[in-house]
Amino acid sequence: KSSLPHARERTLIAVKPDGVQRRLIGQIIQRFEQRGFKLVGMKMLQVSEDLLSQHYSELRAKPFYPSLLYYMTSGPVVVMVWEGHNVVQTSRTMVGTTNPTEAQPGTVRGDFSTHVSRNVVHASDSLEGAKREIQLWFQGQELLNWDCCDQKSIS
Ligand code: ADP
Ligand code: MG
Repeated sequence: KSSLPHARERTLIAVKPDGVQRRLIGQIIQRFEQRGFKLVGMKMLQVSEDLLSQHYSELRAKPFYPSLLYYMTSGPVVVMVWEGHNVVQTSRTMVGTTNPTEAQPGTVRGDFSTHVSRNVVHASDSLEGAKREIQLWFQGQELLNWDCCDQKSIS
């Protein structure tokens, strides 16, 4: 068992409808796997406006909010919970800035997106935000604790 601080930290990552439609699910999962994070929950769903309005409650007054709801309900999303050391902050770095115009090459948005209204992926922005979003999107029993094969005794 790891004694590193934040080793069991979790964050919510979602492939948005444009990412699903552009067949980017696998490439996005691959980046988190190869970085060394552990997938502990995943599902594909057509999101309801009710769930989205809770997810994006802080943005309700923004001028782009109606088009954001339209975008996010335009097709299925793949939502995941990833676990690992400092995963919230590291994921934000891997995803890149909100506006892909400024996102660095090598980030998801910097490699796959040109416009803020179609920015491919969601990542929680803080520990508190991640806790809130994971509770909103997942039931407790949908999140799995599992160990790597090399940490288990073979019977
Ligand atoms: P992030 O997804 O990087 O955490 P925010 O939480 O600020 O960014 O915004 C949530 C989402 O709303 C963005 O990912 C993007 O899809 C959309 N959005 C943000 N700003 C704009 C904008 N100016 N115009 C259109 N859509 C926007
Ligand atoms: Mg955000």
